[in-house]
Amino acid sequence: MGFVDKLKQQASSLGSQIDQALDSTKQKGQIGSLRKQRGEMVSQLGEALLEQFRQQQLDVEQLRPQADQIFNLEWQIIEAEKVIEAQKQAAAAATPPPQAPAAAQAPPAPPAAAAPAPPQPAQTGTVTCPSCGGEVPTDSAFCPNCGAKV
Ligand SMILES: [Zn+2]
Repeated sequence: MGFVDKLKQQASSLGSQIDQALDSTKQKGQIGSLRKQRGEMVSQLGEALLEQFRQQQLDVEQLRPQADQIFNLEWQIIEAEKVIEAQKQAAAAATPPPQAPAAAQAPPAPPAAAAPAPPQPAQTGTVTCPSCGGEVPTDSAFCPNCGAKV
């Protein structure tokens, strides 16, 4: 099977909803060949234009058919890219990304609450007895150890 035949076959399968992934691959191959064709034609157009310059017979309209062919190729490339994009979106809509259940990955349990700290003499709210050095509540007028006035 010749390359051109393959292209025709690809063109006839456009729009098929079957084997979208395969079509997408074919589309990409087709776009590649269209771009190559476009590059070759742009090169030919440039050569023709250059020849006109050389002959000093510049006639842009004479080159219009070639330019139109290139524009047509560009249109085909854009259309093929649209098909690929549509296929991507269709595939994405058909298979939404799996979403992890909310409870599946519960955060690690927080560390157990710290055991209540043993009661400690309040560091604030006490003063040191000037007489015996013991702790005296600030609201006490006298040291509970030695009875000294604080
Ligand atoms: Zn005291």
